[in-house]
Amino acid sequence: MSPSPFPSRRAPMYASVPDQQWNDWRWQLSHRLNSFEDLNKLLKLTESEKKALMTRGLFRVDITPYFVSLINPEDPNDPIRRQVIPTADEIVPFTGMMEDSLAEDLHSPVPGLVHRYPDRVLMLVTTQCASYCRYCTRSRIVGNPAATFSKAEFELQLDYLRKTPQIRDVLISGGDPLTIAPRQLEELLSRLREIPHIEVIRIGTRVPVFMPMRVTTELTDMLQKYHPLWMNIHVNHPNEITAELAEACDRLTRAGIPLGNQSVLLAGINDCPHIFRKLVQDLVRIRVRPYYIYQCDLVEGAGHFRTPVAKGIEIIEALRGHTSGFAVPTFVVDAPGGGGKIPLGPNYLVSMSDHKIVLRNYEGLITTYEEPESYKPHDPKTCPYCQNKQAEPGQNGVQGLLDGESMMIKPEGFDRLHSRGGEQHRLRSGQDKWKPLGIGEDPD
Ligand SMILES: *Cc1c(COP(=O)(O)O)cnc(C)c1O
Repeated sequence: MSPSPFPSRRAPMYASVPDQQWNDWRWQLSHRLNSFEDLNKLLKLTESEKKALMTRGLFRVDITPYFVSLINPEDPNDPIRRQVIPTADEIVPFTGMMEDSLAEDLHSPVPGLVHRYPDRVLMLVTTQCASYCRYCTRSRIVGNPAATFSKAEFELQLDYLRKTPQIRDVLISGGDPLTIAPRQLEELLSRLREIPHIEVIRIGTRVPVFMPMRVTTELTDMLQKYHPLWMNIHVNHPNEITAELAEACDRLTRAGIPLGNQSVLLAGINDCPHIFRKLVQDLVRIRVRPYYIYQCDLVEGAGHFRTPVAKGIEIIEALRGHTSGFAVPTFVVDAPGGGGKIPLGPNYLVSMSDHKIVLRNYEGLITTYEEPESYKPHDPKTCPYCQNKQAEPGQNGVQGLLDGESMMIKPEGFDRLHSRGGEQHRLRSGQDKWKPLGIGEDPD
C-alpha cells in the first residue's frame, strides 16, 4: 500500500504507549482528558481556558488522546483545540440564546424520538460521545451520564415507530450511537430492521473523527448486515483528516455504507472559503460526500462560535462551479423554534419573462435559457405516483400550493384577525375595530 497522503500524529506524551493500546478504542475512551491538570501536561493552557476548566457546571469536557494529538500545542487558536477545549467565552450569554433552540423536545412523541419531518425521525439513543464539541446543539442532554435513555424508553420508541407507517428513514443519533456497547448497537439495528416500513437506517456519528480505531472490521461486518445503512460523519476542518480517519472511512465504504459529512460553520475555525474548499476536496478523496454545512445554532455556550449567515453563502459561492459538484454541500439554517433545516445559497436566477430566463453562472457570466414554446406536462390523472400520494394533512407545505391541494398558507391568528366584518360579536365592545390583537390576547 502506498503511504497515506494524510498525516498520522501522536502527541509526545503518548510516545511510549504500545501500538496495541493506542489502537484500541477502549483504551482511547478510558484515557480521555478532561481536567486542567490533564490538558496542561499537553498544551500550555491560556488564562481563558484555565478559567473555563475550573468552572463548575460547564458542559462536559472529554477528549480522546488520538484527537488531542491533532492539536498544535503552540497555537492557542488551533482549529481542533477550539472545538474541544472550553474557553471563558462559553460562560457568556447572548441575545437569542436558548437551551433547546430547535424545539426538539416539542416534537418528541416519546422521549428521545424527534418526529419533525413527514417520513423520517431522529432517534436519540445515548447521551454519551467519544469527545464533546463545545458548540453542541444538544448540550442540554448530551454528556450527562445520569441522563441516558432507558430500556423502557427504547421500547416506547420502537412502539411509536411500529405504529407510524409513514416513517421510512430512521436517523440514529445522540450523543453518539457508536459509543454504545457493540451488543446494544446490534440489538438496536436488528430491532429496527424487524419493522417492515423502515427502509433506510442512518447513523450520525463523530466517532470516526474522534476515535477512528472504533471502526474495526468487527464493527463494519456487523453494520453491513443491516443495509441499506447510511452514515454521516462530522468533520469541520482539514486538520481532522488523518491517515487513521481515511482508513476508517475506507473500511466503512468497503462495507457498502455511503458516507456523508456534516460540518458546522464556526467563527475562527472554518469560516473561510479557502479552508472549506480544502476540506471538501479532502473529504471526497477519502470518499466522503459533503452533505450539509450548518449555521451554528442559538445554543447556550456557543455564542462565540456564531458567524453571520452570509458567511455560509459566501462559502457556497466559492464552491459551486469552482470544484467538483459532488463536493458541494448544502448550507442550511436549522430554524430556531423547530422550523427545520432551511437551505440557503447564492442566487443564480437574475430575471425572467414568459419565454426566457436570465441566469448567471459562478464566473459572473450572464446568460439566457429559452423556455419551450409549448409544454405538454405528464398527466397526473394517469400517473400512478400522483394517484397514490400520501401525507399527513398540512404537511405538503409550499409544494401543496403548487399541487393545487390548498390555495394559501396562513400565519397563526390570520383568520381571527381578518374576520372582523362577519364576526364583530367576537370583539370586546368599545375595542377599536382595526386594532390588531396583541400577542397572547384572546378575543373570546
Ligand atoms: C436533520 C434532521 C433530520 C434529517 O434531515 P435530512 O434533511 O433528511 O437529512 C430528521 N429529523 C430531524 C429532527 C432533524 O433535525
